[in-house]
Amino acid sequence: MKKIATVLTAIDFSDSSDNAFQMALSMAKSFSAQLLVLHVINEPVDLRGFYVPHISFEKLEDEIEEGAKKMMESFCRLNIHDFENYESLIVPGLPYEQIISQGEEKSADLIVLGTHGRSGLDHVLFGSTAEKVVRKSKIPVLTVRLEE
Ligand code: AMP
Repeated sequence: MKKIATVLTAIDFSDSSDNAFQMALSMAKSFSAQLLVLHVINEPVDLRGFYVPHISFEKLEDEIEEGAKKMMESFCRLNIHDFENYESLIVPGLPYEQIISQGEEKSADLIVLGTHGRSGLDHVLFGSTAEKVVRKSKIPVLTVRLEE
C-alpha cells in the first residue's frame, strides 16, 4: 500500500477551509506524515482590504505579502499546537494552479480542501477552486464539506 508521507492542505482562511485543515491535521498525525499548509495570494490580487485594512498603493504587494504571512502565522499558532512536522507556504498565483503545482513540487501524497471557500457560492456543489483541483490534479484530493 502506498504510504501517505506528505499531506498538503490549502487554506483561504474561510470556515470551510478551517474545517478541512482540521481533517488534514488529524490525517497527518495518524499517518505520521508531514503537513504542508498552503495559502495562495490570489492574483490578480483581491484589493478589498482582506489582507491589510488600509491599502498603500506604493507598497501594496509587500503589505499584502506581510498581511498574508501574519494571518498564516496566527492561524498556525492557533490551530497547530503540539504537532511539529509541518511547513507553511505562501505563494502568489491562481489558487487551483498553485495548489496542484505545489503539491507536485513537494511530492504530496494527498491534497485536502474545503468544498467551498471565500467565494460564498454555497449553493453550488463545489467552489471553483475545489472543482478545478479535483478535475486536474494527479494527486488524490479529499474535499471536506462543512456541516452547518
Ligand atoms: P473555492 O472553490 O474557492 O470555494 O474554495 C474551496 C477550497 O479551496 C477552500 O476551502 C480552500 O481549501 C481552497 N482554497 C480556495 N482559495 C484558496 C487560496 N487562495 N489559497 C489556498 N487555498 C484555497
